[in-house]
Amino acid sequence: MLSYTEARQKVIEIVGVEAAKRTLVHETVEIERAVGRVLSLVVAADRDYPPFDRSTRDGYAIRAADAAAPGAALECVGEIRAGGEFKGAIAPGKCVEIMTGAAVPAGLDAVAMIEHTRREGNRVTFERAAAPGDHIVARGSEAAAKSVLLRSGARLGYAELAVAAQVGATRLRVFAKPRVAILSTGDEVVDARATPGQLQVRNSNGITVEAMARMADAEPVPLGNARDNVQEIRQKVERGLEEDMLVLSGGVSMGKYDLVEKVLAGLGAKFHFTAVAIRPGRPAVFATCNDKPVFGLPGNPVSTMVTFELFVLPALDLLAGTNPRPLPILRARLASTVKEKAGLAHFLPARIEWAGREPRVTQLPWQGSGDLVALATANGFLVIGPEKLEAQAGEWVDVVPRRGAL
Ligand code: AMP
Ligand code: MG
Repeated sequence: MLSYTEARQKVIEIVGVEAAKRTLVHETVEIERAVGRVLSLVVAADRDYPPFDRSTRDGYAIRAADAAAPGAALECVGEIRAGGEFKGAIAPGKCVEIMTGAAVPAGLDAVAMIEHTRREGNRVTFERAAAPGDHIVARGSEAAAKSVLLRSGARLGYAELAVAAQVGATRLRVFAKPRVAILSTGDEVVDARATPGQLQVRNSNGITVEAMARMADAEPVPLGNARDNVQEIRQKVERGLEEDMLVLSGGVSMGKYDLVEKVLAGLGAKFHFTAVAIRPGRPAVFATCNDKPVFGLPGNPVSTMVTFELFVLPALDLLAGTNPRPLPILRARLASTVKEKAGLAHFLPARIEWAGREPRVTQLPWQGSGDLVALATANGFLVIGPEKLEAQAGEWVDVVPRRGAL
């Protein structure tokens, strides 16, 4: 049985190959709507950045040589505001008041912070020695004109979008979002809007997977629920295979009515794994069918969430045209001792807090992988095993944040 890191690597390898075969579709979006999208065309600098020698402080622009030692006094001959210009030349021995973001005039080569000066009338005394380049970002030092600032395949977060805005790239070429078909299975599962009978459950996994797909900036295509019979699952799986990827939940365990693998096999699927050494989530299935990645996630709601985070997310990144983001892992001090059973990596609902100096993580009580209520109070998963299955209070342990909660 693969470890979760091996299984994740397998997904990245296989989906990477499939993604490389696909012709990605481009579209244009306005910058305000582009967060989370994947750039399909480079963004380059339209001019030097900064476009002028920029002062990074409020203070006085000077020739550093005029204040090479503390205590120099210079005459102030004017001011330059951000966006403003100083007309005329500044003679040696003179200085000019300057604001943060303003252009340092030609001939001057340092800015002294206002905090380190005294002023009486137009006479400014410099308490500290200045050196050339002090508090100035030279023209073109952040980026030269025409240099590539964002590459094709970059996921557009707030920093990337700020760069795009800075260079005036307000309409961005991006890849179309990967479309993910979502199908739950189970005779007992009814729509979340329906009134369940005493022995039925509402379909929470459909909503989970749709939400997680949206959070990954993919386009969910919900296909509802299939009852546990081969014909119905097969028909809906065939519909799902029309999209870029199919994510099923339920029906992958050892039970008599767990039919997902059987249906996939009947459609000629190639199985890359059918179990992973994790709890929750052990029966997770990853296959390709008609060159499309197919995930069969275990139906227990917490298993669905953990296996989506571990295996589906990197696949979505690859289909989106970008590199899979690494699994985020934090380190925190364990609040009380945790002991688990051998052989598996355990992802336990936990709460991470920074009350004091260090992050601290507490395992939450839960009833196992069906316990959604416990999970909604957790903001992460404490990871224990597979090698070391006991961690003492006070030890540093790994925690995977619950996406969006931390
Ligand atoms: P399965 O993986 O099909 O054996 O299902 C495992 C457990 O998860 C059972 O208790 C199911 O009732 C529950 N379950 C399966 N699918 C869903 C779903 N879509 N929403 C909520 N619970 C589900
Ligand atoms: Mg089932």
